[in-house]
Amino acid sequence: MRFIVIKKKMIVCCLAILLILSVVLIFFAVRGVETNMPKPEHIIVIDAGHGGRDGGTVGSGGAIESQLNLDYAITLKQMCESFGFGVVMTRENMNGLYDENAPNKKRSEMEKRKKIIDESDADIVISLHMNGFPLPSAEGAQVFYGKGNEAGQALAESVTTSLSRDFESARDYCTVGDYFVLNCTDKAGVLVECGFLSNPSEEKLLQSREYRQKFCYSLLYGIITYFQM
Ligand SMILES: [Zn+2]
Repeated sequence: MRFIVIKKKMIVCCLAILLILSVVLIFFAVRGVETNMPKPEHIIVIDAGHGGRDGGTVGSGGAIESQLNLDYAITLKQMCESFGFGVVMTRENMNGLYDENAPNKKRSEMEKRKKIIDESDADIVISLHMNGFPLPSAEGAQVFYGKGNEAGQALAESVTTSLSRDFESARDYCTVGDYFVLNCTDKAGVLVECGFLSNPSEEKLLQSREYRQKFCYSLLYGIITYFQM
């Protein structure tokens, strides 16, 4: 009889321990879900060139570079985020980055762009622009990287490979570009001239949603390939 009582006590004890263990396990599992929210492995600065009173290039059909840069930046942002990348935008509307009261707006704008890049914790910078040239036949995307920036060159090569595979008009080589947004940081940066607004047919293409989607997807593919290298 005494043996049975001891056995019963042991079973109750074991059940109590199991119950406590389960509660503890559930507690940590729930906390784990809360704290292990997927933190992006890579962060990308997407820089829409120009803005505010600086519209950049204006196409023969009236397209404004700063607006198209923003459209492409927003599309690329959405694609990058859906792929799990963190994104920092230098601008998300048509306002300029400069301080309205700054005596030198260009300098003020450059300083703001650099500040956003410096404070971003990003791995790479993608600056988006549209080109213009006196000869209307000039066409195709071009990719630039900063002089002496090896990571930038690798990123530029990766993006160029993707763009030139997807677009016949795109250059199949990338080049050093002397641009502030590339020179102001040690991060891997590229400046992409998406196409020529001075070319009427390319201007139309660049304005279409389908072309923008295809172009940004090609950029994303180049970015992913770079991170996998
Ligand atoms: Zn530009």
